[in-house]
Amino acid sequence: MYSTLNRFLKYVTYDTQSVDRAEQTPSTPGQLVLAEVLGKELESLGLMDVEVTPHAYVTATCPSNIKDANKKNKVPAIGFVAHIDTATEVTGKDVKPSVVTNYDGGDITLKDGDESERVVLSPKDFPYLLNYRGQDIVVTDGNTLLGADNKAGVAEIIAGTEWLIQHPEIEHGDVKIAFTPDEEVGHLAKLLDIEKWGADFAYTLDGGAVGEICWENFNAASAVIDIKGRAVHPGKSKGLMLNAVTMGQEFNALFPPSETPATTEGYEGYYHCLSFNGSVEGVTLKYIIRDHDTQKFEERKKFMEKAVKWMQDKYGSDRFVIDMRDQYRNMADKVKGHEEIVELALSAMRELGIEPNIVPMRGGTDGAALSWRGLVTPNIFTGGHNYHGKFEFISVQSMDKAVDMMLKILELAVKK
Ligand SMILES: [Zn+2]
Repeated sequence: MYSTLNRFLKYVTYDTQSVDRAEQTPSTPGQLVLAEVLGKELESLGLMDVEVTPHAYVTATCPSNIKDANKKNKVPAIGFVAHIDTATEVTGKDVKPSVVTNYDGGDITLKDGDESERVVLSPKDFPYLLNYRGQDIVVTDGNTLLGADNKAGVAEIIAGTEWLIQHPEIEHGDVKIAFTPDEEVGHLAKLLDIEKWGADFAYTLDGGAVGEICWENFNAASAVIDIKGRAVHPGKSKGLMLNAVTMGQEFNALFPPSETPATTEGYEGYYHCLSFNGSVEGVTLKYIIRDHDTQKFEERKKFMEKAVKWMQDKYGSDRFVIDMRDQYRNMADKVKGHEEIVELALSAMRELGIEPNIVPMRGGTDGAALSWRGLVTPNIFTGGHNYHGKFEFISVQSMDKAVDMMLKILELAVKK
C-alpha cells in the first residue's frame, strides 16, 4: 500500500555515514548527495517550498487541503523530522539489504562462511526477533549497518506524504518535512531555520520498535583528554620516562565501573570511554557523559574535571588537557506545559491499537535540541532494532505502522 519499503531499500544504498568533529556540515559529502535525491523526490511529488541547502538540510511543505478557512486556521502545522546520516561505529558503505519474507522465527544467516566469518542474526541473541514471526524483515549482509536509523524515518515520512497527495479526500493541515544531517555526531539540527520552516510543533521519527515514544532523553556532554608523556629509551628510563599509556589507564580507573553503558539502564547515568588511542609519547581518551537528571549531569561533569585536576596535580598541568563540550539537553523540561503534543501522539497510538511504550531515551535526538530552541519535538518509533551495528533490522510491517501513525496524528489534529 505505502511506498515505504521501496524507498527505504533505495535510501540505504547511499553512503551517508557521518564523522565526528568535522569542520563542516555535512561532515561527509555523501549526505549532500542523498539530500539532493530526496529534494528531487519531494519536488516530483508536488510538494511546496522544497529546499535543499548546501549543508544537506531538506525542507518542504505539503500544504493544508482544508477548504473551510475558519477550520484551516485552527489546525496546527505539524512537522516530521528524520536524519539522513548513519552512525559512526559501523560502515554504511555498500549496504546490501535483503528482505526475509514471512520470517519463520529461526536463525537468519546474514553472512555465510567459516566460523570466524559467519554472521547470524538469531533469536537466541535477540529474543524480540520472535515478535516478527510471519512478518517481512529487512536485514544486512553482515558487513555493514542497515541504516534504518534513520532512513526508515525518511522513507516513512515521504511515503506518508505521498499517501496524502494520492488521497486528497483526507483532510490535513500543513505538513512540514525536514531531513537533517549529522545527527549521529551531535550536530543537533543547528542550521534548521525553525521560523522559516513554520511548524508549530514536530515529531522526530527516530525511535525503535512499534509503540516507542519518548519525550525524555539524556543530558549529554563529550570530553576529550589529551595526555602528554615523555618517551625515553626503555633501557635508560628509570625515573625519566612518563608513559602516557599507563597515565591514561590510571586516569580511566578513576571512574566507577558500575557507571558505564554496560552496567546501567533506565534513568541511570554513566561515563563512557569511547576510545583510548596512542603510545608512550601521547594518548587521547574520548568520553561521553550522560544523565537524565540535570543536577546529577552537572555533578558528573564536575567529577570529570576533578579527575583531570587530580592527574594534573600528580604529573603537571601541561600533561593533561581536557576539552569538554555540552552536546544536548533533556527535552522533558521543555515539554512541560505542552503535554497536548505528547497526548496527540498517544491518542493516535490508541486509535491504531498500538500499545505505547514510553521510554526515557538513553540517547538524544535532534528533537531534544529543537525543543530547547522552542519547537517541541517528541520522538516516535520507526520500527527498527539493533541500531548502529550489523545486526540492525526492521520489519516492513513496522515501517508501515509508522506511516499509519503519522497519518493518524494528522487526522486527529484536524478533528480536535
Ligand atoms: Zn537516529
